[in-house]
Amino acid sequence: MATKIAIVDVNEHNSLQAAIVSGLKLVEDSFIFNLSECKNILLKPNLLRATKDACTQPEFVEGVLAYLKERNVPRENINIGDSPGQIKTFASKIAEKVGIYDIVEREGIKFIDFEREIPINVQIEGALRFKECYISKPVVDCDLLINLPRLKTHGEATITGAIKNYWGIIPGGLKAKTHLLGKTADQFGEVLADNYSWVVKNKPHRLIVYDLHTIMQGPMGPVSGRMKNWNLVLVGTDELALDTVALEIGKFKGLEYVPHLKNAYERGLGIGDLDEIKIVGISLEEAKKLTPKFKVPGRRMTKLATSITGGIVYRVTKRIPKLIKNNCIQCGQCAEICPAGAIMFESKQYPSFNRDVCISCLCCMEICPQQAIRAKRRGFFGLFHKN
Ligand code: SF4
Ligand code: SF4
Repeated sequence: MATKIAIVDVNEHNSLQAAIVSGLKLVEDSFIFNLSECKNILLKPNLLRATKDACTQPEFVEGVLAYLKERNVPRENINIGDSPGQIKTFASKIAEKVGIYDIVEREGIKFIDFEREIPINVQIEGALRFKECYISKPVVDCDLLINLPRLKTHGEATITGAIKNYWGIIPGGLKAKTHLLGKTADQFGEVLADNYSWVVKNKPHRLIVYDLHTIMQGPMGPVSGRMKNWNLVLVGTDELALDTVALEIGKFKGLEYVPHLKNAYERGLGIGDLDEIKIVGISLEEAKKLTPKFKVPGRRMTKLATSITGGIVYRVTKRIPKLIKNNCIQCGQCAEICPAGAIMFESKQYPSFNRDVCISCLCCMEICPQQAIRAKRRGFFGLFHKN
C-alpha cells in the first residue's frame, strides 16, 4: 500500500511555520485518524542537548500547533515531551534553552519530562534483541503521536531522523543500558528497529513533521556537526518512507547503508521503496536540485573489511571516545551514563577509558556538556584489544 509524503520548499512560503502548516494540509486526506476524536495528542521533538542545532527547531512546534488550532483541536488535548538520555538534565530544561518552552507556556500546553513519569514495562513481540523494555507512560497513553525529528548524522546509527527519534520514548538513562544489547553498529540497528516495531504495532495513529530546514552533517553529529540549509519540510505518516525520502534528497547511497533503516525495511516496518511513495508538494527531483549532498561519515570499508578479516580490521577501525582535557570540567556525567562501565572517574579527576570493554556506543560523547569527548578510529592499537 502506498504512502503519501509532502515535500515543502520553505522559500515558497512567508515563514517556516506557514510551510509546516501547508505540508500538513497536503497530506491530511491520508490520515487514518480523526483529529476531532484525538483527546491525548503527544508531540515528540528531538531535545538531545541544550544547543539549538542539536534539537528540533521551535518553529516546528509552532507550526504544528498553528495547524491543530486551525483544525479546532483544544489546547488541553495536546502535550509535548521527550527524554534526552542525560542524567542531570531534563528535556524541559533543554526546551527552555532552545526556545521551545516559551511556546509551550504561551500556547498553554503541558510539557512532560518522560523520565519523571512512570516507566511502563512492555514486551516487544518479534524483537530480535530488544525483547523487553520500558516506555514512558505518556507515550503509552497517547492516542496520536506527532513525531518532530531533525535530520542529523549519528556516530553509531549513521543517521538520526524519523525512526531514531523514537529512542527518546525510553526514559532517561535506561537508553544507555540498552546499548549493551547491540554492541556493533549493525546489532544496534536491530535494537533501534525493535524499538520502532513497538511504535508501529502499538501507536497506529502517527504523524511526522520532519525538520529538513537546517540539517546537521559530518562526523560530529548528532550534537555538534556542521549545519546546512536545505530549506525543506517533510510531512507524512510512515517514518521509514520519510527517512528514505530524506536520504534520497541528500543523494545518499541508500537505506541499506543505515543499519536501523535496512533492518526496518527487511522486517516490513514501513515503506522503503520510492515507487510506493506518493510525493506531493514539490517533486523529489526538484528537492534534490535544491539541496547539496548529505555528508555522512562512511562505514562501508569497515563493514567489508570486517567480513573479510573476521574482526581484525573492525578492531582497528572501531570508533572510540577520546578526551579533550582542555574542555573537560570533571563532572563525571560520562562515567555515570556509560552502559559498559568503561569509564573510570573520581571526583576532581579526569575520566579515563577502558578500551577493552568500551562498546563504541558514544553515549559519553552525546552526554558530555562540554563537548570534551570526540570519536576517533582506534587505529593500530586496536589489534591489542579483545573486541
Ligand atoms: S568528559 Fe565531559 S562528561 Fe566527562 S567528566 Fe569531562 S566534562 Fe564531564
Ligand atoms: S566509553 Fe563511551 S563509547 Fe565506550 S561504552 Fe562507555 S559510553 Fe559507550
